[in-house]
Amino acid sequence: MIAFHSNSRQHAALAPEFERALRGFDLADDDAAARAMAAFETSLASYAGVGHAVGVASGTDAVTIALNCFSLPPGGEVITCDFGFYATAAAIVRAGFQPVFVDTAPDSYLMDPARVAEAITPQTVAIVAVHLFGEALPLTPLADLAREHGIALIEDCAQALGARDGDRPVGTVGAASAVSFNWTKHLGSQSNAGAVLTNDAQLAEMALALRSYGSTGGFRHDWLGLNSRINPFEALILDVKLPHLDGWIDRRAALAARYDRNFDGSPVGVPFSHAPGRHAHHKYTIRVADRDGLHAHLLERGVTTMACYPYLLHEHGAFDHHPHRAEPAPNAAALTGSVLALPVFPELTDDEIDGISELILGYVKEHS
Ligand SMILES: *Cc1c(COP(=O)(O)O)cnc(C)c1O
Repeated sequence: MIAFHSNSRQHAALAPEFERALRGFDLADDDAAARAMAAFETSLASYAGVGHAVGVASGTDAVTIALNCFSLPPGGEVITCDFGFYATAAAIVRAGFQPVFVDTAPDSYLMDPARVAEAITPQTVAIVAVHLFGEALPLTPLADLAREHGIALIEDCAQALGARDGDRPVGTVGAASAVSFNWTKHLGSQSNAGAVLTNDAQLAEMALALRSYGSTGGFRHDWLGLNSRINPFEALILDVKLPHLDGWIDRRAALAARYDRNFDGSPVGVPFSHAPGRHAHHKYTIRVADRDGLHAHLLERGVTTMACYPYLLHEHGAFDHHPHRAEPAPNAAALTGSVLALPVFPELTDDEIDGISELILGYVKEHS
């Protein structure tokens, strides 16, 4: 039985460190929670290479709060990619804006900056750049567009903490960025947590207010904030895990390279080659003709895979009753029918990767 994602091997190895951290938390000390939160925020800002990290309850809240930090006109258009995870688009709507969905670049899982440029109108207020599957988007063209048009660039790094575009870490180019520590992410909490990253002290102050009922104190609420502070126990756990993240990403890269080699010369479409930088390998996503058949075949043999993602974002019923615009997205539409993400968590063994690869190669040979 190989799960699509599991933390159990990782957490078993870290159990003594977790216990030490949790035992050090004094429940009788009113300041213990704030200290645990602040300690993790300091570690995270330093790891990410930004001035400020503000811990929040989830990645969804992080995207929402990042968007609301700028006091942008309500109802404005926010451009993002039509191929991706629901939460990005939901956060745009929740933050009070209209999503505008654009296509992926050819031979890529990532948003096409050329399509972003075409989609900008006088109503555009922001771009949300999603570093999907752990791969950094080319940030220079997006940062140039944002500057030229006076709009905000927000990076959704929920799948990409630790990745780099060239030598620039994701999360450091956009004015504000969002991270997720949902338990399935490559830096996972026990359930949910997230953070807003920024180099701008004023935006950080705003994010702090927005995670705390939109108030800076004294029961005065100047902004429509959330109640979304990071859980202090999750902060403790994450602070233990963060120093291991780079090693885990390296191990994911080794597993991804092993899959690549195993699939070489076969009809399996391996992840597109990408620009120089560092891939976080949050997901290892292949493309195959009979995706649903392969998924079922693997499941019967004890391997769980996931179609990431089977629908374009604008196709979800959730957005039917909210204003949005979907630009033509033929590249992204082609992906939705063929993509399948394979297990790639760092505690998998080489033998397990080879076993999964063999099952896949056997199936595609029979069905092509
Ligand atoms: C997971 C994810 C989110 C949302 O994060 P949560 O912590 O699950 O709320 C946002 N954007 C992307 C790209 C994600 O993968």
